[in-house]
Amino acid sequence: MEFIDLSIQQDRIRNKIDDSIHTVLKHGKYIMGPEVNELEERLAEYIEVKHAIGCASGTDALLMALMAFNIGPGDVIFTSPFTFIATAEVISLLGATPIFVDIDPVTFNIDPLKLELAIRAVKEKDANIYPLPRLLHRQQTTDNGQLTPRGIIAVDLFGLPADYDPINKIAEKNDLFVIEDAAQSFGADYKGRRACSLGHIGCTSFFPAKPLGCYGDGGMCFTDDDHLGEVIRSLRVHGKGHDKYDNVHVGINGRLDTLQAAILLAKFDIFPDEVELRQKVAQRYSDLLNSDSHPVIPPRIPEFSISVWAQYSILAKDEKHRSILQTSLKEAGIPTAIYYPKPLHLQEAFSYLGYKEEDFPVSEDCAKRIFSLPMHPYLIEKDQEKIAQVLASNAN
Ligand SMILES: *Cc1c(COP(=O)(O)O)cnc(C)c1O
Repeated sequence: MEFIDLSIQQDRIRNKIDDSIHTVLKHGKYIMGPEVNELEERLAEYIEVKHAIGCASGTDALLMALMAFNIGPGDVIFTSPFTFIATAEVISLLGATPIFVDIDPVTFNIDPLKLELAIRAVKEKDANIYPLPRLLHRQQTTDNGQLTPRGIIAVDLFGLPADYDPINKIAEKNDLFVIEDAAQSFGADYKGRRACSLGHIGCTSFFPAKPLGCYGDGGMCFTDDDHLGEVIRSLRVHGKGHDKYDNVHVGINGRLDTLQAAILLAKFDIFPDEVELRQKVAQRYSDLLNSDSHPVIPPRIPEFSISVWAQYSILAKDEKHRSILQTSLKEAGIPTAIYYPKPLHLQEAFSYLGYKEEDFPVSEDCAKRIFSLPMHPYLIEKDQEKIAQVLASNAN
């Protein structure tokens, strides 16, 4: 059994993928070829936003989104500590300060109530209101020592959109922008709106294991804002103006490869069908695991959301129980993975912020208990039954 089986999908569209690759080899426009534009148009229509800008990775999408808001030293960006490192890495990379906000224990996404507390804590410079980084030994502030709250990066973890209505309301009240880290949620829904369209800029990733993956690295920014769209388009080609050798911003080489765009076009044809298949697989898990005799807590999705199930993550009773469950599954030939074993505030890379253990208890508790089961559109019922059986036989 595979954790994420990409070969069944490939068999389904092999001819189309081969044709697409050959078309690119024939026209030879490897950089910014026509497939990039075609993909951008199709995905903008799917997400229902005005601008879709292909880029080299999900990380570059996040980086350019922050750059479009001119983020730098002295700026504060609020985000979740329970996510992949890329979400917060881009904040530090620009010299700004990530301020972490704990998650909701049911959805694993940023908790809007705590977000409000964290914003107040920064504005009033009072870590008694909410845990703040201890920045004393680093030049993170501007000359007058001020830290200015600028924005929020909300993460749609495991494919489930964060709770954007309260998040956007808090952002507006505090004059902050909202970037949606939709690296795991392309294809998901929130109150009838598509993931990637839920903040000022949505950023997704086409890393192979994501719901819509290519055969290498790739990503995309989505926005309805004409100005932001134009700036990101410029940033991804070294801040170009009317041509490549006229530079109006300090940018990066952040383009999506033509070959990857061509592969994504072939994959996107069957993507809506795969999103449906993912719902069926998740529902089967839920039916199998939602009984009192079962020793794990399966995910619960708010009724106004549709997850795209990038991961199917469950909670064991404690760290020891998780290890027993993972070992039994492994012995039965069933792969599992832990997303994420260490919250970001406890990572060495962010030790300069000076956070400490117990600053974000929900994230820390989840990091000890969570693990993910095999999940992909083509997972068969028989395999899921086997997984459920192994779990049930390890109740303690
Ligand atoms: C995968 C991922 C990213 C980064 O995407 P890449 O394409 O690998 O750069 C960012 N944030 C989250 C939440 C992710 O899962």
